[in-house]
Amino acid sequence: MIPREQYTTDKPVYELKEKQYNRFPVFKQAFVTVSEEDTGERSYMGFLAKMQENAVKNMMCDVSGRTIADYALNFGANTINLILGEYGFPNSHFLKWSPLFVPEVLTQRPAETDREKLTGLVKSTAELYGADLVGVTGLDEKWVYSHDLFKPFLLADTDKPQETEDAFVIPKSMNTAIVLAVAMNTELIEKSPKVAGGTAVNLGYSRMGILAVSLAEFIRSMGYLAIPCMNDTALSVPLAIDAGLGELGRHGLLITPEFGSNVRLCKVLTNMPLLHDQPIDMGITEFCAQCLLCAQHCPANAITSGKASFEGVCQNNNPGIRKWHVKSSDCLHFWQQNGVDCANCIAVCPFTYGFHWSQCVECVRCDTTYGCSLHLATHLREKYGFIKEARWWERSVQTPLPRKGL
Ligand code: SF4
Ligand code: SF4
Repeated sequence: MIPREQYTTDKPVYELKEKQYNRFPVFKQAFVTVSEEDTGERSYMGFLAKMQENAVKNMMCDVSGRTIADYALNFGANTINLILGEYGFPNSHFLKWSPLFVPEVLTQRPAETDREKLTGLVKSTAELYGADLVGVTGLDEKWVYSHDLFKPFLLADTDKPQETEDAFVIPKSMNTAIVLAVAMNTELIEKSPKVAGGTAVNLGYSRMGILAVSLAEFIRSMGYLAIPCMNDTALSVPLAIDAGLGELGRHGLLITPEFGSNVRLCKVLTNMPLLHDQPIDMGITEFCAQCLLCAQHCPANAITSGKASFEGVCQNNNPGIRKWHVKSSDCLHFWQQNGVDCANCIAVCPFTYGFHWSQCVECVRCDTTYGCSLHLATHLREKYGFIKEARWWERSVQTPLPRKGL
């Protein structure tokens, strides 16, 4: 990771209206509301039927970038995701809230209690299991979903995490989130909205599943509690911001200094005592106020070109927090029509690649004299080996990731 010491901030990274903000329920997500529109039932995956109909049409017509071979690559990439967590359902598949294979004797008492040692151990283990970025933060209750599809998430004074008939109960002692980012394949993502873009996303989900499940089992083997989460249980983006992994972009996604927007996020909640990281401010969110590329390239016009606001723009948003709210159901309707998910907003985001400084001359929006956050992030990525220095007429090239383990 690029060292963050110089860029951490004590200032609040969100503007939040306490009276207006409420914890967000999963059943207000576009995946659920569009599924409900299509099938009349509350589910997470009901929206897929229309997308698959158009996928079949694409394959039958042999549309370029949407052939059977393109979809086959995509489906294969998704296999481990579907086995381990299926994008994230709490306490389900291999995302169980209790140990899977850990000998019970190891779960009885902590093997180590030193906060610093445990933090080093957890971070190096996460990297070994496939994390490209890892940060630790306190679990802010605001970011825990209020409800899953049907049941609420409660934080309570209990010993162990459990699912009852009425609720998902998280012990208050599990007050730490280890937030993990997995970089996606840039060559595939830039082909969005063709199938290859979705293949990069599916590969990311499969790696997320391996990472979250494996790290949770490691933590349990060290005598602590662990809840592995993919998209479920809590909002990944604000947790990642709190853990110092990056900043919020206009497209509603995290932008990291190392990989820009081209990451998937997962997390493990735990009671393990760990040192917390701090949020960063490299001026990335500020850059989005000037840059409109994602809004201009969104085929669904789902991303605003306007200012960030406290008010949502559709039923899938959560008002009370100042941000650029995205029309998520319009986005999902485009996925259905496209026959595969879209990642244009990631593909066009300049932070996904990094610019050479001399390309500044092409930028008509710049109002800085001494370089912008994109210039800074690009410089740091070159310095720490994430991209190769580009000549002025070229885009930077990502260097292969030095992965240690999975
Ligand atoms: S995924 Fe595609 S449709 Fe959705 S917001 Fe991003 S660019 Fe727009
Ligand atoms: S494309 Fe531009 S405005 Fe959109 S998230 Fe990236 S930097 Fe921000």
